[in-house]
Amino acid sequence: MKNKVIDGHLHIEAFYGEEGCFIDSFEKYRNEAGIANYNICAIPCLTGNANEISSAANNIQCAFYKLAHPDVFVHACLEHFAKEIPETIDEGFDYVTQYKELMEIGFDGIKMLEGKPTYHKRIGKNLLHPELMRFYAEVENDNTHIVFHVNDPETFWDPNEVSEEHKNIGWFYGDGTFATHDELYSQAEAVLEAFPNAAITLAHFYFCGDTPEKLQALLDKYPNLCVDITPGTEMYNSFEAKHDFYRDFFEKNSKRILVGTDGAHPLPARFPIWCMDRLYRFIATSDVVSAFDDKPLTGLALSEEASANILYKNFERRVSAQAKPINKDALKAYINKYLPTITAENTLAEINKLIEKYL
Ligand SMILES: [Zn+2]
Repeated sequence: MKNKVIDGHLHIEAFYGEEGCFIDSFEKYRNEAGIANYNICAIPCLTGNANEISSAANNIQCAFYKLAHPDVFVHACLEHFAKEIPETIDEGFDYVTQYKELMEIGFDGIKMLEGKPTYHKRIGKNLLHPELMRFYAEVENDNTHIVFHVNDPETFWDPNEVSEEHKNIGWFYGDGTFATHDELYSQAEAVLEAFPNAAITLAHFYFCGDTPEKLQALLDKYPNLCVDITPGTEMYNSFEAKHDFYRDFFEKNSKRILVGTDGAHPLPARFPIWCMDRLYRFIATSDVVSAFDDKPLTGLALSEEASANILYKNFERRVSAQAKPINKDALKAYINKYLPTITAENTLAEINKLIEKYL
């Protein structure tokens, strides 16, 4: 790759994968793809989820990752202890307190998955809960970066359009128990309305591949708002179908778009390596390649300046040119406080190994 690149959207979802322990998992990707740096986003999995890594445990993993690789960026997530956010959260575990603890540890931003229909349902389907509103206010005040996943492709609500594959992992939302596509948009936009200067990056192009005018209106209204183009493979079909329109859109909005691959340990490095190659060629070249779902994707060949904005400058502007250091005392305090909330025994055992090695 000719340009500098920062992948803004990676995850750690296990302790071990076929390429070994999570602690070095993205270094192979960095070296082989030639990217400059990357950002790992913790996932608010909710305690008791299938893979038994709670949000707090995932934050702890990400913090240790940064102790092992101090130049890497990490975004933390909030822990939700209940299936639904209670009217008031126990003191000391409210979101503002959690947020302050995480910032003190040395996280570079916050990742929210609470707008994805599945997680949204688990927190009680309300992005405007007063406890969350207090948290957004702090984040806006500090200009802390949030990667915010809101919504999913509209086809996931349609029983005739959703794929079997998505159905099988619980991503069919048309059974009446999830918020609708429109409700999710209106809740998220009410958050933007209330906190118009928050440094929010909406993940996956805000699922607006077919409705770019909707996204453009938001970008025009909120100057600190950005989107990432982490696939969401369906958006690339829209980009390809309206190639000339999107070349202009990307050039014009180049200061508002970030890149990410959604690479996730324990999956092997070849996935983000392949994905970033596609994204890079889409942004910076005119190459025609076989990309997502084996469909052709024609590079936009954006200007040098627009390419640099999208590939790394926007991330550096919004987060920092340099990752924050980890404060070991703050990390120890966080572990001591949250360890009793982690129930999975193998997770506890792995965290204890990390403590011995790194703290
Ligand atoms: Zn993601």
